[in-house]
Amino acid sequence: MGGPSVLHGLEASIAEIGRSLYERALRANPSLFDARGLRGRLAARALSDERLRSALFHFIDTLPQLDSAAEVAGHFRAYLGNYELGGLWGRVLRLGSHPALAGAVRASVQRVAREFLVEPQPSAIRRVLRRLARLPASATFDAVGEAVLTEQEAERYLQRNLELLELLARESNEPPAISVKLSALTARFDPLDRSGSCRRAMARLNWFLTRAVELKATVTVDMEQHELKGLILDTFFEVLEAFPHAGWLPGIALQAYAPDAPAHVERVIQFARSRRRRIGVRLVKGAYWDTEVALAEQRNWPIPVFLDKAQTDQQYELLTARLFDHPDVIYPAIAGHNLRSLAHAIAAARMRGLGRDAWEVQMLLGMADPLCKAVASKGIQLRVYVPVGDLLAGIAYLIRRLMENTANNSILRQTYAERRQLVDLLAAPHPAPVEAEGRATGFRNIPLIDFSDPKSAAAFRHALDAVRSGLGRTLRMNVDGTTDRPAGHHVCTNPASRDETLGVVEMASLVHADRAVANAVGAFESWREVPAMRRAELCRRTADLMLERRERLAALEVLEVGKNWREADADVAEAVDYLRFYAQQMEALDGWRPTAGFPGERNDLRYEPRGVAAIIAPWNFPLAILTGMASAALVAGNPVILKPAEQAMLIAAELHALLLEAGVPAAVCQLLPGEGETVGRHLVEHPDVGLIAFTGSREVGLAILERAGRVVSGQRQVKRVVCEMGGKNAIIVDADADLDEAVLHTLHSAFGFQGQKCSAASRVIALKSVHDRFASRLADALDCYPYGPPEDPQYIFGPVISEQARERIERYVELGKSEGKLIYRGRVPQSGHYVAPAIFTGILPRHRLAREEIFGPVLSILCAENFSQALDMALDSEFALTGGVFSRLPEHIDLARRRFRVGNLYINRRITGALVSAQPFGGIAMSGTGVQAGGPDYLKQFLWTRVVSENTLRHGFVPPSAG
Ligand code: NAD
Repeated sequence: MGGPSVLHGLEASIAEIGRSLYERALRANPSLFDARGLRGRLAARALSDERLRSALFHFIDTLPQLDSAAEVAGHFRAYLGNYELGGLWGRVLRLGSHPALAGAVRASVQRVAREFLVEPQPSAIRRVLRRLARLPASATFDAVGEAVLTEQEAERYLQRNLELLELLARESNEPPAISVKLSALTARFDPLDRSGSCRRAMARLNWFLTRAVELKATVTVDMEQHELKGLILDTFFEVLEAFPHAGWLPGIALQAYAPDAPAHVERVIQFARSRRRRIGVRLVKGAYWDTEVALAEQRNWPIPVFLDKAQTDQQYELLTARLFDHPDVIYPAIAGHNLRSLAHAIAAARMRGLGRDAWEVQMLLGMADPLCKAVASKGIQLRVYVPVGDLLAGIAYLIRRLMENTANNSILRQTYAERRQLVDLLAAPHPAPVEAEGRATGFRNIPLIDFSDPKSAAAFRHALDAVRSGLGRTLRMNVDGTTDRPAGHHVCTNPASRDETLGVVEMASLVHADRAVANAVGAFESWREVPAMRRAELCRRTADLMLERRERLAALEVLEVGKNWREADADVAEAVDYLRFYAQQMEALDGWRPTAGFPGERNDLRYEPRGVAAIIAPWNFPLAILTGMASAALVAGNPVILKPAEQAMLIAAELHALLLEAGVPAAVCQLLPGEGETVGRHLVEHPDVGLIAFTGSREVGLAILERAGRVVSGQRQVKRVVCEMGGKNAIIVDADADLDEAVLHTLHSAFGFQGQKCSAASRVIALKSVHDRFASRLADALDCYPYGPPEDPQYIFGPVISEQARERIERYVELGKSEGKLIYRGRVPQSGHYVAPAIFTGILPRHRLAREEIFGPVLSILCAENFSQALDMALDSEFALTGGVFSRLPEHIDLARRRFRVGNLYINRRITGALVSAQPFGGIAMSGTGVQAGGPDYLKQFLWTRVVSENTLRHGFVPPSAG
């Protein structure tokens, strides 16, 4: 359909329909904006004050989890107590801080909630069905729930849906209609494990759908965030294949705010046509706009939604028309509350002569009752989307609705609160011309691979195959100027499968070490003179090469140290970030700079490299840490000798090759694979090594600091040691913590890479009131994850690094059994160095499990009476690397900010995965020397400053430039 006259006719029809809907709807205000009641005033006030609005929603968000009146009052005070409002509002806010009124506050929120969320009681559901029948409207139900973190929770979700289905079948004359979230059907709904996720979701859906088909119930699959979209669509089509029954209507929600929505609409239409069956499509604009934008920005991914609202509105109309063009196979549900979009849909349906049964309008319960009435009065088929759930389960849904109702660009707000001109409300959407994106300046982190894109996953699989086919070589000992025999051979094996040899490395002897130092000493003078810009360029070139081969490098990490796909990719991305970040930093530090002025003198300072640097790295971030330390030293003008960890030498050899390929001279960057105890130690003690950059265990770090401090014969320089060591990191889970988040983030913080991160959580200190619930939910959540070789993306947890590490960790598990109570032990395969994850409760601060770095998948949960005690317990450690707090009480968050002195404190998020520049990383106390990697001061440790002062007074003549 097209042509100017048709379009003109359509616009005229939209204007007419829109006006009549508007006039009908304006006869009443939707209840939230009803200015007569207290809630109406609350809404009105919240609309005019952004801060109050956000404080109010923050408070409501915590409310369902607060047990006592004192807690309710405390949170009310914390969020809303600072508002100096006069009149009624001032009084209400003051009263709310009183524990005696906690019940009233809670009841008031409950009442607001009930406008949007129906209690999971048959009587409440019956009431809403009756109310809707009067409109007349039918309903589609949605059993809203907390995030599903465990398989038991997924089971319960489905059970609730089934009960709802049966109830609706009994209570309603129409076939039931229900919406399901696929991500709630299994705790592991992960696009990286497409087939596994699909299989798990289908296994749960099977019996539910069998019953739905019997009852001829409409089941609509909800669309969720961008990352899950492909997986949701795939699973939906599997459902269609598995249930080919005529007479029941499967449906899917599609989001118009996604630029790729037309492709999805076409896919559904094609499928319906090819199978000759009818599919319901609920067309929505999209409910996760803020999250999608924020997440994409955080990850530096392309933003998967339109930024201009008018683009969404325009696409919505195009897709509405597209769906209306296929009435024989598509049953469209036009879902929304936007007057223009609704008027457009009605007009477009009329133009096509679509009857009442060919499509429907859907609106959310409580969002726009007057508009519902107006639509129903036009003889349009109306269905109201009814979420069912208690306040705790439905809080996220409720907050979304409240935000939507009161957001600045909300059509409801514009219609009812601001009464915008009707012509504006009904104007055709006109997207603003897209502005060319300005070139971003400054440092930006490399985006991680988006594995929800099947092409990325395929490329990674291909890289794994390619790496495997090139394995098995011997890495020759190659230090210029010596032909000394290697000290021995190191056989590199895959920790996930003991028998798989990845390669053999010839190990350096002390002769090699001496020769390497001599080569580096020889190269120092000329490397120092290479302009900093050029050194920075070499780092950037290395970064570019690394990016070109990122999948292969990451694939090698998967095989050599047992990282999963995402973690291996993140390690490579971090290495690229370091190269670029320090290059930029060095350029900023380069050259002479005037110091504070002194009359008659010119005073200049510059940064200079310190000398030969030994880079002694651990295996657990095999590329990132080695690259970070090496690139800082190199770009600063120091020749480096790379001494990687024995367990990660193949990846180190790749870095070495990349640096040389980029153009770093061979004598400036030498690889010295050797044992720490011999070669590492020798480098530390060597008189010609001026700088040691070390990351590793406390034991080795302290020994290095001590040895580097001992002056040996022939030494001409005080050594500088940059030293990053271990941690015993704690997460505090406060009484009001969002447990969905606390459990999920703790799981990844404690067990990600099998706990073998210096930043990993190894202690949780949970407040008594949430201790048991947190511990059991965490154990159940962990139990959903099988352990296996991480090259298979269904496993996000794999082996530990070596047999020696396995035995050491197992000894701690045995010790834990005598110190506390083992509440969870996982199951692992026998084929590699696997340690079954363990969770202990009953651990006390004095226990070894609470004090020593275990560096494995073992978590101790301690119990605290109150937040202050939890903080004391967290700080009761020699280490101070990372820490975390899950709390929603601003006072506690402030207290943690002030007192929880660790290198990196994370609030309400996971405690691992620091990003270069955004989260400079490193510890204090016995965790490190306190200058953080990837931060503003790190590079300076690889430099010293020198100053030149020149007297510029010549016989009383002061040149104008003199200070
Ligand atoms: P490690 O201390 O055993 O080894 C680190 C490096 O030191 C290796 O290259 C090793 O060969 C070398 N080495 C060993 N003994 C030596 C000696 N006597 N003299 C000189 N060099 C010697 O550590 P690891 O097992 O490779 O790594 C795990 C440890 O690293 C954990 O304690 C972890 O917390 C820590 N770590 C800290 C950070 C951080 O940023 N703070 C980051 C990663 C790892």
